[in-house]
Amino acid sequence: MLLSVIIPCFNESAVIEATVDRLREVLGEDAGKRAYEYELIFVDDGSSDDTLEKLRRAADKDACVRFVSFSRNFGKEAAMLAGLQYSSGDCAVIMDADLQHPPELIPEMVTWFEQGYDQVIAKRNRKGDKKRATLMARLYYRIVNHIVDVKMVDGIGDFRLLSRKAVNALTSMQEYNRFSKGLFSWIGFKEKIIEYENQQRVAGETKWSFKRLLSYGIDGLISFNNKPLRICFVMGGLLVIFSFVYILITLIQILMHGVDVPGYFTTICAILIIGGVQLISVGVLGEYIGRIYYEVKGRPHYLVQDTNVPGSGNSED
Ligand code: UDP
Ligand code: MG
Repeated sequence: MLLSVIIPCFNESAVIEATVDRLREVLGEDAGKRAYEYELIFVDDGSSDDTLEKLRRAADKDACVRFVSFSRNFGKEAAMLAGLQYSSGDCAVIMDADLQHPPELIPEMVTWFEQGYDQVIAKRNRKGDKKRATLMARLYYRIVNHIVDVKMVDGIGDFRLLSRKAVNALTSMQEYNRFSKGLFSWIGFKEKIIEYENQQRVAGETKWSFKRLLSYGIDGLISFNNKPLRICFVMGGLLVIFSFVYILITLIQILMHGVDVPGYFTTICAILIIGGVQLISVGVLGEYIGRIYYEVKGRPHYLVQDTNVPGSGNSED
C-alpha cells in the first residue's frame, strides 16, 4: 500500500525541516512493527523565502520527498488540488506544514482507512485559541449551516485522509472557485471522525489575516448554492409589501386629516432602508457574477515551475 502525504507550504522555511523529520520518524521503517510505503508531496505555493531550497535538499537526501513548486502564490486551495493531482497513493493525507496537524495521527488514520473508510477526518478542539476567534467561528458555522446545502463542522479542517476514490472525486471537480471544506463534505463517502488536541504553530506565523479569513468566510457562503440570491429576493418582496401597507396607511391618514408635518423622518428612514437592501442585493449579485467571470475564463488553478515528481506529465488541469 502506498500512502501519499500532501503538504502545502507557503513561506514555511522556519518549520519545514522539522516537519520532514517528524514525518519520516512517524512513517519510516523504525516507526514500529509496520512501515508503509509513502511519498511526501510538498507543494511550494510560491514561497519567497528558502522553503524550496530546503525541500530540494530534503529531496536529495530522501527519495520519498517530492516537491511541486508553483510559479507564484496561488493559495492553499490550489496547493491542495495540485497535491491531490500529483499523488499516486492508494490513499492521501492532507496536512499543514506547521505541525499544527500532528503527524502521529497518520497511522491511526491509515488503520481506519484499512477498515474501509474513504474519509478519515481529524477534528481539533479549540483549546488554546483566542476566545474571540472561537466565538466568531462558532457564530459563522451556525449561520453558514443554515444557508449552504453541505454540512460544515467547526474544528474540522483540511487534515484528513482520503481514499483514492475520494481523491479522484475531488480532482474531478474542476471548478475554479474551490472551497475545500464544502467539497469534502459534498463528495460524501464513508466518513470517520477522530479527535485530537489543538496544537499551536511550532514556528513561523499564520498566513491568515482577518481580511483573508473574511474573504474565506464569504467564499464558504457563496460557493455552494444560490440561497443568498433567494434571500435578496425574499427581502425585496417583504420590503415591497411593507412599503405598500405603509403607503396605504399614510394615504388614509392624509385623506382623513390632511397632510400633517413634513415627513422628514419617515422619508429618510425609507431611503436608508431601501438603499441598504438594494446595495446588499447588488453586492450578492456581484459576488456570483464575479465567480461566473472566473469560471468562464477556465484558467488553470495553478502553474508549476518545477517538480521532481516522476512522470509528472500528470494532469496539470
Ligand atoms: N498555505 C499555503 N498557501 C497560502 C497560505 C497558506 O499553502 O497562500 C499553507 C501554509 O504553508 C500551511 C497551511 O497552508 O501549511 C496552513 O496555513 P497557516 O498555518 O498559516 O494557517 P492556520 O493554521 O493559521 O489556519
Ligand atoms: Mg497553521
